[in-house]
Amino acid sequence: MSGEAGTATLNAAALPASRPRRTSVHRPPSAGARYRASKRSIEENYLATVYRWDEDRVRREFARLRWGSHTEMPCPHCGTIDEHTWTAAREDWRCVFCRKYFDVTTNTLLDSCKRSLQSVYVQTLLWSCGSAGIPALTLREMVGTVSYNTAFSLTARLREGLVRGQNTGLIAGVVEIDGAHASGHDAAGKRGRPLRQQQPKTVEEADAKAKAIVDAFNAKQAKRNLSAEQKKAAKTEQVELRDQGAVRDPNTGQVLPLNRRMVITLRRRSGNPGDGSVWTKVGVGMAETPEVVEHLATRHVLIPESVLATDEGVAFKKLGKQFRLHQTVNHGETLVGPDGEHNNLAESFTARQDRAEAGIYLNVEPKYLMDYACETAFREDHRRVPAPVRTAKLLFWALNVGRSHYWRGYTHGKNRKHELLVPEQLPVGSSSGPAPREPGSEMDGRPPR
Ligand SMILES: [Zn+2]
Repeated sequence: MSGEAGTATLNAAALPASRPRRTSVHRPPSAGARYRASKRSIEENYLATVYRWDEDRVRREFARLRWGSHTEMPCPHCGTIDEHTWTAAREDWRCVFCRKYFDVTTNTLLDSCKRSLQSVYVQTLLWSCGSAGIPALTLREMVGTVSYNTAFSLTARLREGLVRGQNTGLIAGVVEIDGAHASGHDAAGKRGRPLRQQQPKTVEEADAKAKAIVDAFNAKQAKRNLSAEQKKAAKTEQVELRDQGAVRDPNTGQVLPLNRRMVITLRRRSGNPGDGSVWTKVGVGMAETPEVVEHLATRHVLIPESVLATDEGVAFKKLGKQFRLHQTVNHGETLVGPDGEHNNLAESFTARQDRAEAGIYLNVEPKYLMDYACETAFREDHRRVPAPVRTAKLLFWALNVGRSHYWRGYTHGKNRKHELLVPEQLPVGSSSGPAPREPGSEMDGRPPR
């Protein structure tokens, strides 16, 4: 992109002065943009069609996605495959063997859904449409009547389906791996304070603010020639941070903030030029270290027969030797190497993830970063399929990974107790809400509910 822009500016400068200067550069639309604008991407009036379906029609759709059939299915309780008895009064099947009742959502992520299946289908359809993400609050506005918790719980469960369903298995071929910084901004301090309140109100305040800016600049300059004591103090500070669990970036040597994470992407290049990639796996690590990268590559890539394409990060040097071929590109100099080496598809994932974090979800907690990264991987991989297919995929995973491990009882104060990190999970507590009360513990003045 920047290459094209650069060339256009040069050409404009070389033109005779009489011609008006071009102020914009015309770029042909990307393949993704062409698809989105095309007729193929649209199923005409699909939402209206779904609203015309009755509950039985939607149930057939769910059954097809879960079992591949709406007449014969395995009982979720005992596994007996048969034509179970449909009981119209309860709107449930009854197992011919164990006599228990079940529905399409029994023992799935959508188990505790108290909404109609049609409402779940419509919300999934709408949620699948954003290119970088749709907040639960927006979804609630689109659908109209549901509470925020309902919308949030559904989107969170769909993400869990992606974490435990889509983000599994192996990829092979030309695999691009890249890490990107995520989270770790000190956004909490600015939150809730309008810019106007941060403006100085008196002359003294303005002076103090100006002085602070100058001092900060001078301090930054002075860092180059610190005294031995100051250097020692800085080092102690870093050691303290590391004792608390912070890690060093292997590329720059800097100790990263405690809440900084790296989203590592593994993308398989499509065989057809221009098709990009449609197989993406992700993982979250504390830093882009050889250990983290190797762990993810072993989990998701068929190593000896694949080709690795990365930038020149130190984490990939040892890993690259295990592959058939390791192509690297020096991002300090160029985006595509002399022999066509690049990892731009992995960078394209990162761009979408950044937009989701900075533009849509805002302040994604490290604890749930993996869920959001998996969502971005889904949106990136399904950028050129129509909405009904995307909906089917989302529901397929939500119905086929078992009961929820992360979100059962979330609205009643139950939380996931760990962060999904590689190489190992990090135990973390609840980030918000009241602490769950232990039975028999001292009351804090409020009557029991
Ligand atoms: Zn049964």
